[in-house]
Amino acid sequence: MFGKMKLRDKMTLWFTILTLLSVTVFSVAVYGIIHVVLKDLAANEIRLSLGQILSHVENEDGVLSFESGIPVPSDTMYFVTEENGSELFSYGADITLFDSVPTKPGEVRTISRETGTWLLLDSGVMTVDDFQVQVRVVASNARNERVLSTIRHVFLIALPVLFLLAIIGGRSIAGRSLQPIRQVVESANTIAKGDLSARIPPAVAQDELGEMTATLNHMLDNVEAAFKREKQFASDASHELRTPVAILRAYTETLIQNAGDDEERKASLNTILTECARMEKIISQLLTLTRGQEGRYPISMEEFALLPVFEGVREALTDKLVEKNNAFEISLDPSLTIQADQSLITELVLNLAENAIKYGKENGHIHASARQESDWVTLIVKDNGIGIPEETLPHIFERFYQADAARNRSGTGLGLSICDWIVKAHHGTIRAESKPGEGSSFIVKLPL
Ligand code: ADP
Repeated sequence: MFGKMKLRDKMTLWFTILTLLSVTVFSVAVYGIIHVVLKDLAANEIRLSLGQILSHVENEDGVLSFESGIPVPSDTMYFVTEENGSELFSYGADITLFDSVPTKPGEVRTISRETGTWLLLDSGVMTVDDFQVQVRVVASNARNERVLSTIRHVFLIALPVLFLLAIIGGRSIAGRSLQPIRQVVESANTIAKGDLSARIPPAVAQDELGEMTATLNHMLDNVEAAFKREKQFASDASHELRTPVAILRAYTETLIQNAGDDEERKASLNTILTECARMEKIISQLLTLTRGQEGRYPISMEEFALLPVFEGVREALTDKLVEKNNAFEISLDPSLTIQADQSLITELVLNLAENAIKYGKENGHIHASARQESDWVTLIVKDNGIGIPEETLPHIFERFYQADAARNRSGTGLGLSICDWIVKAHHGTIRAESKPGEGSSFIVKLPL
């Protein structure tokens, strides 16, 4: 159970346990010391009273006499006995309550009676002015009992209050101590979502956590710089490849024109031309993707109706649809509009629709639809084609990922990566659902 607890709760628990333990140990120690000190004081006081009483026993012309009016505390009783055991003087009505207590000279004893606890001291047989007397002093212990009981009550009330304070204080201290760690987690989450520019807010304190924040931010600077360099390289490389491929294509076209009737040569040159077109497509898609991911692609938001976009895509794909005898059905409310970059949304629908044809069946059926749900517009492109195996589904949005690259020479593996970037640039989501052999659906959600 302890392992599953949050760090904040663990820290609070430890803090509370430690506080309660320290307070309990401290309270017990203080109570014990006060108890001993009070007992000592009372014992001294009763011994003092005994001395006072003895000093009032006198030999008055050969007769034992006792001078009353001794300055002992009011709740003290005493009993003075002569040599022959007869009572010389007694003070306090309750002194008879202790008649049954046997004599133990010199020892201060605590005796309980219905009237409370009492301290009792016997003098034993003492010789005073040639007479032998015995004195018993009994003093009430009520005052000490009251003091100790008050202390016990204070502790009993203070403990639950301290317990509450320890929990509240512990939670607040743990919360404040863990704040920088929470910020690290939040920043790591933002970075994990793709925002490499996110940083952990610098800590004010120059402690270990401040050092950790500074080190992590420094590491993120380096990681971001490395990613930028990598993206820049891909973008620069695509840009540099454009011209040589264009030259290659131009020369090949000239060679085809001059090939005359040499069909074999023409076929070879046409293969080069096809591959040039494929390379040009990869280069242009890579440029779009790298520029987009670098944030260098200008996105212009405008409000437009979705129906013409869908119809335009169907129009653009007419040849391919006819070639495969595919039906392309569009269903959406003609008045449905969206605030987005029109050319990018067109490219998104075009990529999805092209894939639906490419991975669709002969005489297949494609259904493109859009509908508004509260603040979102959902676009769905559904086909009844070959479908996507479950194990490849999580990878199809990765760059250059192709489920069956060997058989799919016309593909680049970049179309869905571009779709993913377009959707993210509009703060939306894209996902695919598929059943191999039955078809696939690509579901895009865009905020209105
Ligand atoms: P490609 O240029 O290969 O089509 P994409 O990025 O557009 O690249 O798609 C990646 C992979 O996802 C494709 O190679 C294919 O295996 C799979 N795929 C995409 N769309 C569909 C679909 N409608 N039906 C089946 N598989 C699909």
